[in-house]
Amino acid sequence: MTTAARALRERAGKLKRRYGITPAQWQMMWDRQHGLCDICAKPLKERAHVDHDPKSGRVRGLLHGFCNKMLNRRYTAAMFARAARYLESPFDGRDL
Ligand SMILES: [Zn+2]
Repeated sequence: MTTAARALRERAGKLKRRYGITPAQWQMMWDRQHGLCDICAKPLKERAHVDHDPKSGRVRGLLHGFCNKMLNRRYTAAMFARAARYLESPFDGRDL
């Protein structure tokens, strides 16, 4: 077995063990996202992180490592929605 074939086989095993997906499913997620990160919408590299919900195991998509780290267990979707409203608010404390 060549080094490249061994690397592909190891990657396939890792995807199956960690996330329960095949390389073909990984590729379909890549194509679905058009090679862009689902958080920042910038181009992903070939080694994009597979983001999954550790509680349910649901594989949510492919992200940059940095973007994936923002989704730690401390934050909820509701908190991110509030953060988006906070950032987009026209409030300026200098106007008080
Ligand atoms: Zn990103």
